[in-house]
Amino acid sequence: MAMNRIQFQPGLSLPAFLGQFGTEAQCEAALEQARWPEGFRCPRCGQADHCLLHVGVHKTFQCGGCRLQTSLIAGTLFHSTHLALTVWFLAIYLVGQAKTGLSALALKRQLGVSYLTAWLVQQKLMQAMAERDARYRLDGRVQVDDARSSSLPSSTRATSRTRVGALSRNATTISPNSATERTSPMVFRPNSAIFPAVCI
Ligand SMILES: [Zn+2]
Repeated sequence: MAMNRIQFQPGLSLPAFLGQFGTEAQCEAALEQARWPEGFRCPRCGQADHCLLHVGVHKTFQCGGCRLQTSLIAGTLFHSTHLALTVWFLAIYLVGQAKTGLSALALKRQLGVSYLTAWLVQQKLMQAMAERDARYRLDGRVQVDDARSSSLPSSTRATSRTRVGALSRNATTISPNSATERTSPMVFRPNSAIFPAVCI
C-alpha cells in the first residue's frame, strides 16, 4: 500500500517544540519576532527608537519619540492574561496538533490549569484561528489534511480525482474555489499559523 505523503509529512515533535519554546525567554523572543520582524516600531508614531522598561512580567518598550509604553503582549491574544507564555504556546501546539479537536477538559489536564482557564484559552485560540481562516480564499491545488482537490479544467479533473482516490480512500473533494483553509494538524508554524491572527 502506497504511503500517504500528506499524513507522513514532517511535523514538530513535542521534544522539539519544548526545545524551541520551553522557556519564557524563548517564547518572548518568538512573539517579539512575530510582532516586529524588523524590530520594534511604536504603534502610535512608528518610530523605531526605544528603550526597554522592566515593568510587570513581560518586556515593555518605551518609544523614544512619543514616550508611549507598549507591553510585548499588549494587543495580542495574550493581553491581560496572567498565564505564562510557555503555557499559551503549549496550548497553541496542542490545539494545532489535535486532528479532531481538543476539548477544554483535555486541555485542562494537559496544561495543568483550571477548567475555566482551559476553556477561555481554547475559545480564544479557536476565535483567532477562525478569524485568520476568514482572511484567505484559496485557489489552484488545495490540500487539506489527507484530502486533495484541484481547480484543474473539467477535462483533466477526472484524472485529478483518480489521484485523490489513490492517495486516500477517505479523501474529500473540495470545491475548487473553497474559502476554507486548514493548516495541517501535524505542522506547527508559530510565525504563520496563529501569531499573525493574534497580533492586532
Ligand atoms: Zn511613539
